[in-house]
Amino acid sequence: MTLAAVTGQPRAIEALRAALASGTLHHAYLFAGPAGVGKEAAAIGLAQALACEKQPGVGCGECGPCRRIERRNHPDVTWVMPEAEQVARGLAGRSDFDHTPSREIKVDQIRALQERLAYRALEAPRKVAIVVEAQALGTSAQNAFLKTLEEPPSGTVLVLLASAPDRLLPTMRSRCARIQFGPLSRAQLAQRLEAEHSLDAGAAQLAASLAGGSLARALELDAEQLGRRREVIEQFEALPRDDARPWFKFAEEFGDSREAAEECLRVLATWVRDVAVAGAGGASPVNADLVELARGAAAKVPAAALHRRQSLVDQALVAVSERNGSPRLQLERMLIELMAR
Ligand SMILES: [Zn+2]
Repeated sequence: MTLAAVTGQPRAIEALRAALASGTLHHAYLFAGPAGVGKEAAAIGLAQALACEKQPGVGCGECGPCRRIERRNHPDVTWVMPEAEQVARGLAGRSDFDHTPSREIKVDQIRALQERLAYRALEAPRKVAIVVEAQALGTSAQNAFLKTLEEPPSGTVLVLLASAPDRLLPTMRSRCARIQFGPLSRAQLAQRLEAEHSLDAGAAQLAASLAGGSLARALELDAEQLGRRREVIEQFEALPRDDARPWFKFAEEFGDSREAAEECLRVLATWVRDVAVAGAGGASPVNADLVELARGAAAKVPAAALHRRQSLVDQALVAVSERNGSPRLQLERMLIELMAR
C-alpha cells in the first residue's frame, strides 16, 4: 500500500507527499481520524517512501524494502500496539502473555521502542516507528514517550495513529504535526467494497451505510450482523410510546456491550434517516428492503420530530463510541428523549 494507493484521503496524502518531495518531513506525526479510513495504510506508505530502493521519497510497493514494510517485517520500521491488538491481529497468542492481554500500550513497550530507536538504522536511511491506537498509551507511557518527542533520535520519524487523539496529553499532541483523516463517503466505501471485496451492489450500499465511513468496519459486518439490522429496526418500531418498560428491555438487549450498542445505534442512525427521507417523499433509502415500514413510521411521527430523532441518535452514538458511561444507560436516555418528542 504505497501513499499513491491510499484512496479517499487526498488532503492527508498530499501533505505527506509534499513534505517528502521538499525534504521538510517532521520528526513526529499524529494521524488523527476514525478507525479504518486509511491512517495505517498511509503510515506504511510513508515508511515505504523513506526506505524504497527504486523510487526513493515516493515508494514503489514492489522492491524488497517496500514489500517487507508491507509485511510488517522491515528491521527499521518498528510497530507498537496494545497487547490486545496484537492478539486480535493474530500477531501474538493469548498464551504469549502471563496476564490478560492489556488494552493499554504499556510504559515497558515505550522503553523497548526507545532502546531500538537508539541504534542506527540497519538498512534504510531512516527509522520509522508506528504507534497503532496511540490513544491507548497510558499516562506513564505518554510521559515516557514525551522524552522521545522532545529529543528525537536523529534520522527517526514517529507516526502516531489515533482515532481519539483528544485522549492524548496536550503536550504530546503539540509536539506532533497533525494530519487529519476524514471518514470515507458512503459512495467511496460502497465503490471499494464492490471493486476490492466483491460485494454485490446492494450489500455494498448497506454495509457502506452502516459502517460510519470506515472501510475496516464495513468489512467486519457479516451476514449475521446485517440480519440483526432488521431485528433492531423492527423491535424499535414496535416500541410503544406510553409504556417505558419495553424501552428498558430494548436498552438491556442491545446495550449489554459497547460493540452491540454501537452496532444498534449505527443501524438506528440509518433508520431514522430513512424514515425522515420517506416522510419528505424521497427515495433511495439505505434499508431498501424496509421501504413500507419506513413510510408507515414516517406517517406516525410529526415532521418536526424527524430531524430531532436523527440528532438524538447521533448524540448517543458519539457518547457510546467515546466511552462516556454505560452503553445501556445511553440507549435508555436516548429512548426516553425520543419517545417524549
Ligand atoms: Zn520500493
